Amino acid sequence: MDLVGPQQRGLFIGGTWREAEGGEDFAVLDPADGSVLARVADASVNDAIEALDAAVAVQEEWARTAPRARGEILRGAFELINERADDFAELMSLEMGKTVAEAKGEVSYGNEFFRWFSEEAVRIHGRWMQAPAGGSRLLTVKKPVGPCFFITPWNFPLAMGTRKIGPAIAAGCTMVVKPAELTPLTMLALAQVLTEAGLPEGVLNLIPSTRAAELSKALMEDDRLRKVSFTGSTPVGKILVRQSADQLQRMSMELGGNAPFLVFEDADLDAAVEGAMVAKMRNMGEACTAANRFLVHQDVAREFAQKLADRMGRLTVGRGQDDGVDVGPLIEEKAVESVHQLVTDAIHDGATLVTGGTSPDGPGFFYQPTVLVDVHPESEINSHEIFGPVAPISTFADEEEAVRRANATEYGLASYAYTRDLARTIRLAESLAYGMVGINTGLISNPAAPFGGVKSSGFGREGGFEGIEEYLDTTYVALPADH
Ligand code: ADP
Repeated sequence: MDLVGPQQRGLFIGGTWREAEGGEDFAVLDPADGSVLARVADASVNDAIEALDAAVAVQEEWARTAPRARGEILRGAFELINERADDFAELMSLEMGKTVAEAKGEVSYGNEFFRWFSEEAVRIHGRWMQAPAGGSRLLTVKKPVGPCFFITPWNFPLAMGTRKIGPAIAAGCTMVVKPAELTPLTMLALAQVLTEAGLPEGVLNLIPSTRAAELSKALMEDDRLRKVSFTGSTPVGKILVRQSADQLQRMSMELGGNAPFLVFEDADLDAAVEGAMVAKMRNMGEACTAANRFLVHQDVAREFAQKLADRMGRLTVGRGQDDGVDVGPLIEEKAVESVHQLVTDAIHDGATLVTGGTSPDGPGFFYQPTVLVDVHPESEINSHEIFGPVAPISTFADEEEAVRRANATEYGLASYAYTRDLARTIRLAESLAYGMVGINTGLISNPAAPFGGVKSSGFGREGGFEGIEEYLDTTYVALPADH
């Protein structure tokens, strides 16, 4: 908790830490025992509008800063976060529940967005071309889109912030950030780091709040706000897209997933189990990229399930900060109830439990790593994002069936496949209706790659060369050149 002193538990607006209107605050809980970790200022609608005022006030000046200067701020923040990596990991583990080892992984992954976009800041450029008919020259100029509003989820408290804040700073946008009410502490620490790295007042404004819906509506009704980037659930994403219609804000939507994990008969099964552990158990399964449905060829399904269950059954569940713990608590009581309901329903529909299936007694919101086999394709667990440590396995007979079932979902974020057949790999890359396809790997997130989905998983990309484009508008300039 060293990173968030009493002062940094307020709102951060126009470069100043301050109380919320009426001195309101809310409690942040430790999911390992339900105790109160800290109380944080609870922004009102008026506070949010003041945050936007602060962002708007410095937008023009910020857009005029040298790209190198913006890059250097990001690079400085990257170095500071590295120096404080252990403190960030501890803080994230406390408020979110993940193990300290996992939280360290998130610090290096999340911080890498700052390094990547510090490098992208100096590579923003337009083009010069001759019109096809000759004569005119066609030029393009890239400009920052303007003040942005970011809404982030609780599952990756650092990385879901840096992948929006990094490109926005690089592009020359100012911003208002509303972190998830369940895990606002990491973002408070991040605002402090960016300030120390030299980010000018008003460029980043932070408004922790329990009034997400009200604030978002008020901010999006304001024509000064030009862009919204949201990571969270599909139903909330749809509300925001509807809300964006009046002022036609540009939108980036990173929404839910229902990732298939395909294991073909020619796969290296040990490697597939290894990848399955990562794709399923990263963040206790609380990730939109988490493998949600295991589809395994019928000839290898029994062996795969046994090996996976052995590994899952050996994991130690406990408080994320304790030594020897592999799996921390889920985020809240509701999460445990929802995961258990999905498991119970799947068993009711004919699935067999191989390991897990229970939640240890409280305090804390724990769920035992679970493997189910013979899961009915129509079971709720196959269409619903599990967000917990449960691996439902069902079988397929051939590639055509595997792809058809993998694509039979409204979602299209991450997908995974294990095969050693090159021609099949090419077919899968082209036929899986997903924004991301991992071949023979359970870990696809990489700040240098475009992260994002299709269909109900949203639109827009974060990271990669594409990431900064979300924060840039294009102006085309016509230059007659025939005299
Ligand atoms: P999750 O189920 O993962 O918590 P949510 O979509 O509910 O996903 O939450 C993600 C983020 O969206 C959080 O910061 C939350 O406060 C915010 N949020 C929830 N409802 C709304 C809403 N109606 N408008 C804007 N933001 C919202």
